[in-house]
Amino acid sequence: MTPSLDPWACAGTAWQATPDMTLRMLTGAGLVVLAAWALGRRPFPGQRAFATLSAALALWLGLSLAEHSAADIACKGTLGLLGWSVMLLQPALWVLFLYQYLLTRPGEPPWRLRLVYIVPSLVLLALALSNGAHGLWYGPATTLTPPIAGLPRMRYDYGPLFYVAVGLGYGWMMLAYVLALRGWRSTPSGRRAQWLAFLILMSVPAAANLGYVVFGWRLFGADPTSLAFSVVLAGFAWMAARSQLFALVPVATHALFTHLPDPVLVVDAEGRVLEANIAAQALAGAPPAMGVPLAGWPVFGAALQVRLQSPAVGPPLLALPSPARQFEVHALPLGGQPPLGLLVQLHDVTVREGERRRTLQRLAEREAEHEALRDQALRDALTGLWNRRALEQWFPGECAHSEVSTLALLDLDHFKHINDRYGHAAGDAVLRDFAAELRAVVRAGDAVFRIGGEEFVLVLPGLDAATTEQRLGALQLHLAQRPLGGLPQATGFSAGITDTSAGGKVLESLMQAADAALYRAKAEGRGCTRRAA
Ligand code: GH3
Ligand code: MG
Ligand code: MG
Repeated sequence: MTPSLDPWACAGTAWQATPDMTLRMLTGAGLVVLAAWALGRRPFPGQRAFATLSAALALWLGLSLAEHSAADIACKGTLGLLGWSVMLLQPALWVLFLYQYLLTRPGEPPWRLRLVYIVPSLVLLALALSNGAHGLWYGPATTLTPPIAGLPRMRYDYGPLFYVAVGLGYGWMMLAYVLALRGWRSTPSGRRAQWLAFLILMSVPAAANLGYVVFGWRLFGADPTSLAFSVVLAGFAWMAARSQLFALVPVATHALFTHLPDPVLVVDAEGRVLEANIAAQALAGAPPAMGVPLAGWPVFGAALQVRLQSPAVGPPLLALPSPARQFEVHALPLGGQPPLGLLVQLHDVTVREGERRRTLQRLAEREAEHEALRDQALRDALTGLWNRRALEQWFPGECAHSEVSTLALLDLDHFKHINDRYGHAAGDAVLRDFAAELRAVVRAGDAVFRIGGEEFVLVLPGLDAATTEQRLGALQLHLAQRPLGGLPQATGFSAGITDTSAGGKVLESLMQAADAALYRAKAEGRGCTRRAA
């Protein structure tokens, strides 16, 4: 007969006990408790999907138990078709749960995504429930078997829609595997046990169902799929007791560790890397197996080992070449004293350090510019000698250091005449040459200034006026032989000198004294040097 939805058939049927009745009832009750327990936990990703899945599996167990207990074939067919309401839903719920919990995606999926799993399930469910009209799910050859394990069972005549539903269910199952495997791969070893457990638990009902559909495996004479969920239940109960399943904080901590953009490593007291997050593994490029000493890690291992051992004020910097990157190394001792190991975090400061270097460079450039400007303000552009302002700034400090300093004021003779006769440019050339002559005769600690048009000052620390007078006399003789600025005639100068032994150390009074002496030199025929009285 073709199974169809006929609730009245169940009203009139006789019911028989099945050999697996107690096991099914206990498993169903356990699944209901699991659903309630999950809902009572603090919120965790995939909570509602998990509770719904658990409750739906309990319903499925109940329906299949009723199907096996009913004596009437029409009632059996009705319950068998109703069972599809759960069978169509549960693989999609698995995917949803894994998506939310294992990949730590909080919240409900968007509506469009929900339609992807709700619409095909509803369409198929409508087709299953209307099987009486078309017979494409279970065909007319569906019969009762001779008693198996004490009871006659349904032998369904699978139609094309049945295979479509099974195919869709396995499609969802594959997706669930892909998600679980992806999560497993992105988790450092040592924390993969939970993923492995999920993969194994998911496989048990899938294997039971495949065995039933393909090879006709039976358990207590019935389809073993729904009972296989008792294994899932036991697995979850064990994981809940053992490893704080669904406690959000460990999940969050783990997600933080795994996905933190900073490389993080756990190193034991012997220097072996016990765990490394995705960023640390990516930085290494080809990360070795866990348990390998830190120094053996490529790219950064050896350098990091050195940094960890060198005492530093503040977090030490780890610099890596090509591509050039810099990390601040934060090492947190784990356990008591002495520590059991270290939690090492590498904080990428490449951008910050680059910024700091550029700022320092800009500062240095500013400083150099500033220095150049200051220099410019204190120098005479024509001769390159220090100017009057420089003399005023420099003199007080300089004079304080030496016992005696001589100050000489020099003025070119008849310079106006040179300008008039040979032109201003020739006058400039004379000034430059004269400056060069002065520089050539002074000693290392002496200073030469051009304080006005053709007036110059020499400050000669540690030299008395008499010696200075001699030297200037020599220079006057020398210049008489050697014309300046390429002119046909020599240019002489007159000089007035004074020293600090008599006149004190105030620039202004020294200048006045030197000027008076210069005036005398000019008056007494030029080309000579006179000492202040
Ligand atoms: P004395 O021997 O009395 O010092 O006579 P002098 O002609 O040297 O003195 P005076 O002060 O009469 O003339 C100085 C001249 O120096 C006047 C000015 O035109 C010239 N002079 C001032 N600064 C410059 C300059 O930078 N370049 C040139 N070529 N001439 C300058
Ligand atoms: Mg003058
Ligand atoms: Mg002059």
